[in-house]
Amino acid sequence: MIITIHPQATSEERAHLMSLLCRMTGSQRPISSTQIANREVIALDGGHLDAQAQNLLQQQNAVERVTVVKTPYQLVSRAFKPESTSVVIGKNRDCTSVIVGDTTASPVIMAGPCAVENKEQLMETALAVKEAGAHVLRGGAFKPRTSPYQFQGLGVDGLHLLSDARDETGLPVVTEVMEPEMVEVVAQHADVLQIGARNMQNFPLLNAAGRNSHKRPVLLKRGLSATIDEWLLAAEYIVAAGNPNVILCERGIRSYDPQTRNVLDLTCVPLLQQLTHLPIIVDPSHATGRSELVPVMSRASIAVGASGLIIEVHPDPNTALCDGKQSITPAQLQKIVHESRMLTHMLQ
Ligand code: PEP
Ligand code: MN
Repeated sequence: MIITIHPQATSEERAHLMSLLCRMTGSQRPISSTQIANREVIALDGGHLDAQAQNLLQQQNAVERVTVVKTPYQLVSRAFKPESTSVVIGKNRDCTSVIVGDTTASPVIMAGPCAVENKEQLMETALAVKEAGAHVLRGGAFKPRTSPYQFQGLGVDGLHLLSDARDETGLPVVTEVMEPEMVEVVAQHADVLQIGARNMQNFPLLNAAGRNSHKRPVLLKRGLSATIDEWLLAAEYIVAAGNPNVILCERGIRSYDPQTRNVLDLTCVPLLQQLTHLPIIVDPSHATGRSELVPVMSRASIAVGASGLIIEVHPDPNTALCDGKQSITPAQLQKIVHESRMLTHMLQ
């Protein structure tokens, strides 16, 4: 259940509503509200509230509207907000602004190395992906590696290199944050906070990303074996914590066949478009784990309606410190950008 607060509600009317809600829900803690679609809203697990309780809430002066949402996720549901959300990347920064989820525009292409390795590698890749037509630069400074003996990323030094690359190219930057304590530092340098597949249900991290003081958008990757509902509830944490700017990223789910790294679930794109107003992009690199499959699965992703792609690109994939097998070259990226524009044009 979602309660939309009346914009003209007085502080007494609000206080009255809050204490009523505390009594109704048995909550010991103050009820928190969040801002979505230019309105202050309160989302509740309304499963146990009957029609009488809903009526009582609807009659409160502080209440503009009570919306009953039947899914476990509330604020991210299309039932609550029928119009699609566009997420603006690169606001309040000296770089190009990019909109993810604008249905009239070509898909947003995010590209760059899996890991920031050094200044030369990042700068060369950043300039090359820009030249190839990418809109956002990706690059991991904190890397969630399966083995503790693998390259773990440059950490804060990598963040500084990403900032330099933005200054040089004008491309906004997306990079992963793995710990709640690092959210503010990463948000100082990044234009989008990436929450990786392994952390999709790291609830303290989701809350911290939702509260980040820079109001950076969050790119939330699907967990290794997350259901759609689990994924949307993870997005709900971020939105409920105060950040409505969430981009969902399908990056393949774990299955039994080692031929590909994961199974790219493209069905989830049109399905999510029914369930949520949030934009969705696809990562064909981590989904397939094979560079030769990235171009065709990029085309497929656009064909099913993805709002963008995030692709790993390396100037010399054979020498990459991380995920070289799935990394494509800038020349291959250029072809994908061209094809995605043509495809969008055809589909409109
Ligand atoms: C990445 O983008 O480099 C990454 C680690 O992705 P994922 O969390 O999807 O595995
Ligand atoms: Mn990677």
